[in-house]
Amino acid sequence: MKRPSRIKVNILLIFIAAIVVAVVVGGLWAYGRYRAEEEAKQKAREATVTPVVTATETPAPTPEVNIREELLSAAVGALDKNRITEFGNCLRYRDEQGNLASYDEKALADCVLYLRAHEELYEPFRGLLAAETTEIAEEGGNRYFVLAGKNLWEITGTPRTEEEIAPELATPTPTEAPVPNGQKIAIDPGHQAQGDSEQEPVGPGSDQTKAKVASGTHGDTSGLNEYELNLAVSLKLRDELAARGYEVYMIRETNEVNISNRERAEMAAASGADILVRIHANGSADTSVQGALTMAPSTGNPYVGSLALECQKLSQDIIDAFCASTGAASQGVYITDEMSGINWSTIPVTIVEMGYMTNPDEDLRMASGEYQDLMVQGIANGVDSYFAGQSNG
Ligand SMILES: [Zn+2]
Repeated sequence: MKRPSRIKVNILLIFIAAIVVAVVVGGLWAYGRYRAEEEAKQKAREATVTPVVTATETPAPTPEVNIREELLSAAVGALDKNRITEFGNCLRYRDEQGNLASYDEKALADCVLYLRAHEELYEPFRGLLAAETTEIAEEGGNRYFVLAGKNLWEITGTPRTEEEIAPELATPTPTEAPVPNGQKIAIDPGHQAQGDSEQEPVGPGSDQTKAKVASGTHGDTSGLNEYELNLAVSLKLRDELAARGYEVYMIRETNEVNISNRERAEMAAASGADILVRIHANGSADTSVQGALTMAPSTGNPYVGSLALECQKLSQDIIDAFCASTGAASQGVYITDEMSGINWSTIPVTIVEMGYMTNPDEDLRMASGEYQDLMVQGIANGVDSYFAGQSNG
């Protein structure tokens, strides 16, 4: 084999060296470029540049957005249905140790009810929950909005303190107990389902007798019996007087009783009532007769004469107020000493004859709930006047 010349060997070595240099330089350049690109990408990631999204595709919501939307819809759903506990379960604040703490439910309820009544505060509060700046925390698999502090009133933007708002929160409800006025009224709804013709004296020590309970009149037009109408109005009167602060004692609250007129007067006095109001309706052979009246004893009444003036005052106050309220024709105060239920009374007593069931128009009026309310208002106004007159001397 022919040995290569020395020159050829040198050229070959130079050529090889040049290739090695080129490869190294090229590699270094490529690596540098790669590093530069990687650093640029890293910088881009660190700068949290939002990815560019083409206009044709909507960005998929990130998990963070879903969590907020779910929590918000739970919270607002609970708010709108007044489910305070449920709403409270969506909220926390951080206590001084940095732990998640629940809001007091009573304060929460007060605050929420106040917000709902004040639209100008309620909407921003809902906006606060929706805001990205409001922290969401998770604990034991449950997620909460974490509000800025313990004082909900401050957070909701209410300019006043809980103490200042308290009177507004305590809005009076219809079920609120009325303030007792110290007076007690006995109401006797006249008659009962079956009359009782057995006799009893018309007054203490009297030889004269009357049926224990007459059967009463009835309305051919309305189809009502007097005892039914009397009870219906008396029950409404009971509620109205109670609402005005009177204590009320009812002689009967059903039609299925058998209580004589003497017994009714005795029951009223035994109840400790200040006055007895007996509710009746009238009847007449003349169907054109209509109007209201009240009954009181005369000062010459042998049984109850000493109470006669009080009874007459009570009767006058009630008939005046009754006719003012209902527009019924007034037949005034009828003075009579023939009524057992008056003669046996030991407290001021009146009989209210609301109208004539034998008159078709008045019968139908008295059967209507609207007119019954007017009658009840009138009687109650009369009772008010009676006691107002007493306190004025
Ligand atoms: Zn009657």
